[in-house]
Amino acid sequence: MRKAFSAFIFSLLLAPFAAAVPGAVHCAHILDVRSGEIRDDQIIVFAADGTISSVGPAKSAALPPNVAPVEAAGTCLPGLIDVHTHLTGNPEDSGYAGLGVSVPREAINGVKNARRTLHAGFTSVRNVGASGFTDVALRDAVNAGDVEGPRMLVSGPALGITGGHCDDNLLPFEYHHVAEGVADGPWAARAKVREVVKYGADLIKVCASGGVLSKGDLPGTPQYTLEELQAIVEEAHKLGRKVAAHAHGTQSIKDAIRAGIDSVEHSSLIDDEGIALAKQHGTYLVFDIYNDDFILQEGAKAGMLPESIEKEKKLGRLQRESFRRAFKAGAKIAFGTDAGVYPHGDNAKQFATMVEWGMQPLDAIRAATLNAAELMGWSGKVGALEPGYFADIIAVEGKSPLADVTVLQKVQFVMKGGAVVRNDPAAQK
Ligand SMILES: [Zn+2]
Repeated sequence: MRKAFSAFIFSLLLAPFAAAVPGAVHCAHILDVRSGEIRDDQIIVFAADGTISSVGPAKSAALPPNVAPVEAAGTCLPGLIDVHTHLTGNPEDSGYAGLGVSVPREAINGVKNARRTLHAGFTSVRNVGASGFTDVALRDAVNAGDVEGPRMLVSGPALGITGGHCDDNLLPFEYHHVAEGVADGPWAARAKVREVVKYGADLIKVCASGGVLSKGDLPGTPQYTLEELQAIVEEAHKLGRKVAAHAHGTQSIKDAIRAGIDSVEHSSLIDDEGIALAKQHGTYLVFDIYNDDFILQEGAKAGMLPESIEKEKKLGRLQRESFRRAFKAGAKIAFGTDAGVYPHGDNAKQFATMVEWGMQPLDAIRAATLNAAELMGWSGKVGALEPGYFADIIAVEGKSPLADVTVLQKVQFVMKGGAVVRNDPAAQK
């Protein structure tokens, strides 16, 4: 009895992180991301478990007893989703500076960055790469209500070949330093999948090709072989985990898709055959096309290696052109930014880049809601404001983010699971 009571008190203390009581939000306008319609004067009612029970005109809303709706100024839309983040990493720890960051410090970075991300309107993220299973700890702390942050799916350390993008190549041989996710050969890679699942990974991240922010490799060249990728995918899927493959290079993108991976990350040098394969296999493509601006303007100051800046100069524009071609061709695209390479909380800056490179605002918003939810396996839970979905709601100023996607950079209301995270109509981030 006493135990139940103290649990009740505890749940009250956690009120900022979990609803626990029914409630409602009054929105001056709602953007229905499925139809693209804007509806005026709407009320969203949610149950004690934080899921939506009804959405409709304010005048006919059936409010639960003693519930007064929270006022959300501007236009409401579903909480945003970023499918490519590194919440435990900071841009200022790029290059050699990163060697001085301990695993416990990385976990503490995650606490700060999870809060920033949530307050910027991103109520769900897929975190694809972290050291020491700091992402698993962060996810669990958020779920327990100990830390403020978005809903998370996490990968643990990314799998990669010796000397590849997901190894750590900064120190000379005598230090014998190898990144946690390194595994060479199909069976070693299978064992590594089992290991990261054992320690709490929700999905598998694998480095199929070289990368930009790694020393001594080339983004366009393959790293894992088709045979290794097939082994990883088979093992992961058998264990009920999806696979996200870092792949800039043309061949690696195709190898990854043929191996059956669920999303290609970066997708920079995808060719028409790769796009056709992605469509045929239903593979999601993720293009982190905003962070090019940050890397070229701020990367050197942040400690990125000169070779990384040179690689980005060659790759950035090609990636944006690939994004435009893939979208035009009808490939499935989910919103992912590589936050951590650039400052957390700036995730929404990518919407404007996506519109500049060929998407309509509604397409870009769908990439960060309906599409991202599907890739995460969370359709029906997040990414829309409909009965049964979590009451993950944001609001932005004005009558419609479809007129100007940059309003998404200045989110003024955030609710996660029926609990208000922030409500500041005057907020200009
Ligand atoms: Zn990344």
